[in-house]
Amino acid sequence: MASSSRILPADPHATYLAAKSEIDAAVLRVLASGTYILGPELAAFEDEFARWLGATGVAGVANGTDAIELALRACGIGPGDAVATVANTVTATVSAIVATGAEPVFVEIEPDTMLISAAALAERLQAPNARRIKAVVPVHLYGQPCDMPAILEIARRHGLKVVEDCAQAHGARVSGRTAGCWGDLAAFSFYPTKNLGALGDAGAVAAGDPALLAKVRTLRQYGWQTRYVSDHHGRNSRLDEIQAAILRVRLTRLTEENAHRQSLAERYLSGLADLSAPDSATLSPKPFALRPPCTAPGRTHTWHQFVIRTPLRDELKAHLEKHGILCGVLYPVPVHRQPAYAQSVTLPETERACAEVLSLPLHAGLDSDQVDLVCRAIKDRNG
Ligand SMILES: *Cc1c(COP(=O)(O)O)cnc(C)c1O
Repeated sequence: MASSSRILPADPHATYLAAKSEIDAAVLRVLASGTYILGPELAAFEDEFARWLGATGVAGVANGTDAIELALRACGIGPGDAVATVANTVTATVSAIVATGAEPVFVEIEPDTMLISAAALAERLQAPNARRIKAVVPVHLYGQPCDMPAILEIARRHGLKVVEDCAQAHGARVSGRTAGCWGDLAAFSFYPTKNLGALGDAGAVAAGDPALLAKVRTLRQYGWQTRYVSDHHGRNSRLDEIQAAILRVRLTRLTEENAHRQSLAERYLSGLADLSAPDSATLSPKPFALRPPCTAPGRTHTWHQFVIRTPLRDELKAHLEKHGILCGVLYPVPVHRQPAYAQSVTLPETERACAEVLSLPLHAGLDSDQVDLVCRAIKDRNG
């Protein structure tokens, strides 16, 4: 099948083309300005993104992984500490925890939302060796925010710092409050395929507390408060002017693009509705036994990923590929089963989710006809 007729899981080139003249002008403006690092474009983007989120402030950093690491370090997390998070996330979440010198502790997920279970977190904190757990990183996976009121309540009770992983959740809300405005700090990624994507690497830390934000700003540049004098052990994690200028253009479209994603998600949900019900005659599940994504009440999803579940995941993925429909699997191997971070914990819900999840194509450049085509291709095989 010709690549032009393929349906892709994400399409950063299409998002560039949709704003090409504005992005080209922004890049040329930076090139002509003579300022390429920590200049006016970054300062403007930080203000604009903070306002969009409703956060006190934002500090741009080099990528989302650094954002998590520097946020944890700004909260005082380091060697000897442990940090709770989930294993069904991109390795970056855990790599950032390990980079602080702390040890990751994996917590089980809720079976329906596939997000960190507040009950499992509370239980893990009762274990005899739980005293080293000093922070929790809830991951707003696929764009659905975690149960932040419950997690904050537990964190307060146990004196834990909370760093939200918002890499997939630009604009998600819980009870009307934006993801990234709940924890002590929040980490964002602007990797090109994210809802708010640069055309290169970029990330940011959002804060409610100006003192914590100031700490992130020193850590992102060698620990300097005064030039050439390091007060802390910092490093280089700067967001450059070209990416900041591109992000300012992309941010003006984010609300509209998130709404478009929402309408595509609703079309999938209605298009696949009759496939998820058990067969009424035999009460046996349909061939693929699809489980559509489940959004908990009171939460706004950004639909970074539209994730269905089926025990026949690999078969369905191969079937759709034959129709020129490319799907993602986020994530096939839970982090506690990966060689670099292997732990002997058992997390049955996490492992089941990783075996069953399939991301149907959903991005800002997709239209509803393409969603219908994907639904038809699934029915074709399922029917
Ligand atoms: C993308 C992503 C990251 C890492 O961001 P990078 O910019 O690639 O470093 C971290 N956590 C989650 C959940 C992500 O999706």
